[in-house]
Parts: sequence; C-alpha cells; structure tokens
Amino acid sequence: MSEQTQKDSVADAKLDKSEDEWRAELAPEEYHVLREKGTERAFTGKYWDLKDDGMYLCAACGEPLFSSETKYDSGSGWPSFYQPADSDSVNELADHSHGMVRTEVVCKKCESHLGHVFPDGPKETGLRYCINSASLDFKKADQE
Ligand code: FE
Repeated sequence: MSEQTQKDSVADAKLDKSEDEWRAELAPEEYHVLREKGTERAFTGKYWDLKDDGMYLCAACGEPLFSSETKYDSGSGWPSFYQPADSDSVNELADHSHGMVRTEVVCKKCESHLGHVFPDGPKETGLRYCINSASLDFKKADQE
C-alpha cells in the first residue's frame, strides 16, 4: 500500500473512540443523545425551528449530515429532513426498543445516534428523518 493510499484509508476509517473519550468531549445532553441513544424533548432543541441556509454536521465528529435544503416543518418539534446530505453520510438500523419497531439513524463515520427515520415524509422522498438537535451542529452557509 502506498503512503498516500494508506493516508486515504485512515481518513475514511470509522472513528473509534472509547466512551470515556466521548464523555470527556461532549456536553452531558449531547453525550446522552449521541452515545446513549437518548431523545431530547420535542420543541426544546436548538434547531427544530431554524430556517437558515447551511449544513447540519454531526455534533460528535463534524461529518456533514443534512442540508437545510431538505429541512422542512414536520410539526414534530424535532429537526426534520427528507433526505441525508449524502447517501453515504448515515446508516439506518432496525430498532426494537420501547416496544416499537423503528429505524434508527446513526452517523456513518462515528456511529453516534442521530434519531429515527419514518415513512411519513413529504413528497420528495416520502421519508422523515427525525433528528435530535443535540446530535447536530449547524454551520451557516455564508460561514463556509
Ligand atoms: Fe459522527
């Protein structure tokens, strides 16, 4: 493997931090949602009602996850998007917790919990990515 190929594969590799490292880096509410699959209360997060143009990044690892172009008002009280920024940015996993069958959405790069995806979204895709504000960091378009 060439040195450059090796560097590229390291850059693409999944982040593998211990829970102690995550706990030290993240605010308590972020840690609870991202690493313990918590859910913030509806209408309490910092982004559910934000309409600015920009990109929502993973609050744990900084990976771009959702564009404001796909954000819409679902009435749920959580930031809602009809698709991820890139087909490669999130993973979707079966979640049978709390006596429900849901599809969990996690960051592909660091495997942190983001929220769930439901099949009741707008006409563009029919999907609603229901994401915790605590899992996101908003980067305004003119700051890029
Ligand atoms: Fe991440």
